[in-house]
Amino acid sequence: MGKRKSKRAAPTKAKMIQPLDTQFDCPFCNHEKVCEVKMDRDRNVGFIECRVCAESFQTGINYLSEPIDVYSDWIDACEEANK
Ligand SMILES: [Zn+2]
Repeated sequence: MGKRKSKRAAPTKAKMIQPLDTQFDCPFCNHEKVCEVKMDRDRNVGFIECRVCAESFQTGINYLSEPIDVYSDWIDACEEANK
């Protein structure tokens, strides 16, 4: 009785690593998901720009920084400026 191996040799499907969210809502024009973050890992600079109103901001990053950190820095800076 040749019992077949039920364990299927699962093809190592390279699970696509989900790209981190790099699109954020713009605090200036209030459009959603229009601000795109670019992480310049070589220069340790994070850059964010709104493709609708062209507001932009850049901040220092480190190897642990994520796009969301750049975005929240921007929001902080905006709030700071609005004081
Ligand atoms: Zn905008």
